Amino acid sequence: MKLFGVLGDPVSHSLSPVMHNAAFRALGMDCEYHAFRVNKDNLYNAIYGAYALGFGGLNLTIPLKEKALGIVDPADPAKQIGAVNTIDFKKGITGYNTDGVGARMALTGSGIEIKGKEVLLLGAGGAARAIAFQLAKDGASVIIANRTVERAESLAGEVSRVGRSTACGLDDLKNQIQNCDILINSTAAGMSPKISETIVTSDMMHKNLVVFDIVYNPINTMLLQEAKKAGARTIDGVMMLVYQGAEAFKIWTGCTPPVDVMEKAVRERLS
Ligand code: NAP
Repeated sequence: MKLFGVLGDPVSHSLSPVMHNAAFRALGMDCEYHAFRVNKDNLYNAIYGAYALGFGGLNLTIPLKEKALGIVDPADPAKQIGAVNTIDFKKGITGYNTDGVGARMALTGSGIEIKGKEVLLLGAGGAARAIAFQLAKDGASVIIANRTVERAESLAGEVSRVGRSTACGLDDLKNQIQNCDILINSTAAGMSPKISETIVTSDMMHKNLVVFDIVYNPINTMLLQEAKKAGARTIDGVMMLVYQGAEAFKIWTGCTPPVDVMEKAVRERLS
C-alpha cells in the first residue's frame, strides 16, 4: 500500500482525498490518499516525515504553498510562481506547481484557444500567480486586475519576463472587459459562505466572452450566473481542480488518471 496526502490548515474541506481515491480505485492501484492538518510551524517535519515513511507524494493547500518553497527542491514552474502545490519523493523532495496547467487544461478541454487571446485575470494571489505565468507563456495577453493594485503591478512585472502582461485596479473593469476574450476570476469573491458576491456583473460582459470562475464552492457561482444572463460561455472551477490533481497524479505515478471519474467524484461531493 502506497500512501499519499494533502497537508493544509484547515484541510477537512479538501476534495483531493475523494478525487484521488476515486482514481486509485478505478485503476485498481493499491494506494490511499488522506488529508492531514498541518500548520506552517510543522511543515518541515511533516514533509520530511512523509518522505521517511515512504509516501508516494503530497499536495499542499492553504496556507502552506509559499512556505514549502524553502523546504523542497523546487522544479519549474513552482520556482517561478513562488508556490508549491505538489511534492514528489522519487528523487529527493521535489516541489511542483500544477495549478497553472490545471487552469490551462480547463480552458483547452472546453475547446478554448489561449494563444493570441486577451485575458482579464481577476486577482493576484497564489492561484492567480500560477494562472498568469501559464497563460502568458501559452501566448495570451494577460491583464491582471486586483483590489490591491500594487500586487497586480508587481505580478504583471514578473509575468512580463515570460510573455505579455499589464496591471490595473478594479475601477474600470467594464471597459477592460469589452476588449477581452476571456475573463477569469481567481479571487475568493463568491466563495462560500459569501455566495452572493461578484466583482463583475452581466451588464459589464458581452456575449462573446468566456467566463471562467476558478471558485468551485459553490459550483454555480454568482459570477457564472451573471455570465449566463449576458449570454457568455461559462466554465466552472471543478475542471481546474480535477486537472491540477490529474497532473500531480501523473508526476507521482507515471499513470494518466481517469479525469471523468475524478470529476464525477468531486461533483457528487459538492452537490
Ligand atoms: P489568495 O492567495 O488568498 O488570494 C486571494 C485573492 O483574492 C487576492 O488577489 C485578493 O485581493 C482577492 N480577493 C479576496 N477577496 C476579495 C474580494 N471580496 N473582492 C476582491 N478581491 C478579493 O487565494 P488563492 O489561493 O489565490 O485562491 C483564490 C480562490 O481560488 C479561492 O476561492 C480558492 O478556493 C480558489 N482556487 C481554486 C482552485 C481550483 O483548482 N479550482 C485552485 C486554487 C484556488 P487582495 O490582493 O486585494 O487581497
